[in-house]
Amino acid sequence: MQIPVKLKEKLGAGMQENMPLAPYTTYKLGGPARYFFSANTAEEIKRAVEVAKELNLPIFILGGGSNILINDDGFKGLVIKTENKQLEISGKVIKAGAGIFLGLAVLHAWQNNLSGLEWAIGVPGTIGGAVRGNAGAFGASISDNVISVHALKITGKQAEVITLTKEQCGFDYRESIFKKDNDLIILSAELKLNSGAGAEIKKQMLEFINKRCSGHPKFPSAGCSFKNVMVTDEIREKIKAINQEGEQKIKMGKIGAGWFIDQAGLKGYKIGGAQVSEEHANFIVKVDDAARAEHVVMLISYVKQQVRDKFGVQLQEEVQYVGF
Ligand SMILES: Cc1cc2nc3c(=O)[nH]c(=O)nc-3n(C[C@H](O)[C@H](O)[C@H](O)COP(=O)(O)OP(=O)(O)OC[C@H]3O[C@@H](n4cnc5c(N)ncnc54)[C@H](O)[C@@H]3O)c2cc1C
Repeated sequence: MQIPVKLKEKLGAGMQENMPLAPYTTYKLGGPARYFFSANTAEEIKRAVEVAKELNLPIFILGGGSNILINDDGFKGLVIKTENKQLEISGKVIKAGAGIFLGLAVLHAWQNNLSGLEWAIGVPGTIGGAVRGNAGAFGASISDNVISVHALKITGKQAEVITLTKEQCGFDYRESIFKKDNDLIILSAELKLNSGAGAEIKKQMLEFINKRCSGHPKFPSAGCSFKNVMVTDEIREKIKAINQEGEQKIKMGKIGAGWFIDQAGLKGYKIGGAQVSEEHANFIVKVDDAARAEHVVMLISYVKQQVRDKFGVQLQEEVQYVGF
C-alpha cells in the first residue's frame, strides 16, 4: 500500500503532506515535512510512531521548535508534533503532557502558589523539549523538578509506555537519556514544586523576564547555539591566557560559549542572512529574509573552527539539526 494512503488510514485526515516546517520553529527556517501529524494525545503519538515504523519512515518529534535547525530541503519522514497538553496539579506535583508549553506550566504553578519553576518563564518550547535537553536558566534546570517521566520506548516496530524515575533519566548539563536514545519519546513528566507565595513567585518571574529582555537578541534564533564550556584546569589556563578578566566569567564551573566567540572577535560576523548576534555572541540569529538554514550551518562551523584555532577550545552545538 502507498505510504500516504496507509498514513491517512491510520492517522486520519489530520495527516498532512509537504507541510512547511519553518513556521513551527523559532528560527523560521527550513523546508517542509514530507508527512506531518499533530498528535493530541499520548495514544496518538504511539499510533503515529508505530505506523511510521511499520512503513520504515524516519520520525522526528517536534515540540515548540525552539532548539532546532531544519534543513532547507526539509525532513523526508514523518514529523509528529506533540500537542498532548494536559496538565494536572495534585498537591505540590504537576503532571504535564509533553506538548504543553513550559511557560504555561510555569503560569499554572504560579496560579496555584507553587514555586520552583520561576526560572523557566521566558524559556520557549514544550515540556517534552525541556526534559529532553534538560533545559535550564539562572542556575536551575528542569531536572531539579522532575520526579518521573512517562515515555514511549520503541523496540522494532512496537512502542510501549514506560515510566522512568529521575535517576533513570540520566540528566546532566543539557543532557538526558532521551538525547542519547532516539527510541525514547517523552509523553509526560511529573514535576515536583514547593509551596510559595503568589506575590513572591511573580516578583521572581518578573526579575527573570527583565534579565532575558535586556540580554537576549530580538532576531529569530534557536536560543544559545553552543553549550556552555565546562572549566577544567586546562580550560582555566586558556581563559587566563586569552584575557585575565575571563576568570570572573566562570559561574558554577562553566563559562558561556559566547565569551570565547566574543573574544575571537566574531560578534556581528555574517554569512548570508545568518549573523553572530551583536548583543549575545552565543546566539546565531536570522537577520534577513534571504537567510537559509545552510547559512546558519556554515556560520556555526566557522565559529567552531575559529574558536578552536584561536584558543584550542572545542565548542559543542546546543541546537539540534533536523534532516541533515
Ligand atoms: C529566545 C530563546 C531563548 C532560549 N532560552 C533558553 C534557556 O534559557 N535555557 C534553555 O535550556 N534553552 C533555551 N532555549 C532553547 C529551547 O527553548 C529549549 O531547548 C527548549 O527546551 C526546547 O524545547 P522545544 O519544545 O522547543 O523542543 P524542539 O525545538 O521542538 O525540539 C528539540 C529537540 O527535542 C526533541 N523533542 C521535543 N519534544 C520531544 C519529546 N516529547 N520526546 C522526545 N524528544 C523530543 C526534538 O526531537 C528535538 O531533537 C531558548 C530558545 C530561544 C529561541
